[in-house]
Amino acid sequence: MRRSLLAFLFVLGSSALLFGPPALLAQPQANPDWHAEFPAFKIAGDLYYVGTADLAVYLIHTPQGNILINSDFKQDVPTIKKSIEQLGFKYADTKILLISHAHGDHDEGTGVIQKDTGAKLMVMDADVAAEESTAAGRPGAHVDRTLHDGDTVTLGGAKLVAHLTPGHTKGCTTWTIQVRDGGKTLNAVIVGSANVNPGYILVGNRSYPQIADDYVKTFKVLKSLPCDLFLGAHGGYFSLKAKYEKMKAGGGANPFIDPQGYQAFVADREDAFRKEWERQKQNPPSASR
Ligand SMILES: [Zn+2]
Repeated sequence: MRRSLLAFLFVLGSSALLFGPPALLAQPQANPDWHAEFPAFKIAGDLYYVGTADLAVYLIHTPQGNILINSDFKQDVPTIKKSIEQLGFKYADTKILLISHAHGDHDEGTGVIQKDTGAKLMVMDADVAAEESTAAGRPGAHVDRTLHDGDTVTLGGAKLVAHLTPGHTKGCTTWTIQVRDGGKTLNAVIVGSANVNPGYILVGNRSYPQIADDYVKTFKVLKSLPCDLFLGAHGGYFSLKAKYEKMKAGGGANPFIDPQGYQAFVADREDAFRKEWERQKQNPPSASR
């Protein structure tokens, strides 16, 4: 009895390892919103949302084709394609592909979109190796252009600026773009990530010695960016669902124009980072392992 139960559990466990979605195994903090469809919509001007209910993907429409920021997991690519088409755009018109940072929830599908559309993939220098890696859950995509802090990406009159905001990954990128909307120019900030994930080592990190200093730099950069439209790599950063509902209800100002929400988000993330850094200084992770 006991032996058959153990055998059953073994089969169950090993089949989950063999056949389970590798992305879920690599990302233990799976969130049901990651793969849930979300209505595609115009944020402002030529900037559109084409992501899932949490994994943000942005489309910038230009007369010379479209720019996409993020590809999500491989399994989400059909959802992104559907969203692009719902807006009346063509998936095949994707000319440039960018990422927030080299983690599977934002970039695993880059190789697929690149193959489908021939889009040029442009990635911040310090994330290029991870982007081109074929390790489990990595896209194994060819990077066409290596970006450096402050570089611009232009297409058909649109101009994005790549701001290096490292720590979460070494090449984590916050994108900014000015969009024209109703006669006004709006500064959009798409935060790459400012989160210290569970298990991140901030003190005595051998593979990333300057990680804590990088986070410090990132908060300085984020605080310096002029922001009207507050956006980011996850919908949860900027209350995507609540703001979308508000926008759909209509009437008031564009709810995505939220400079106070942006400053509050940055302050909250910096506070979380500093608390975790302090905790690790008191109790260095290497000493406890
Ligand atoms: Zn990440």
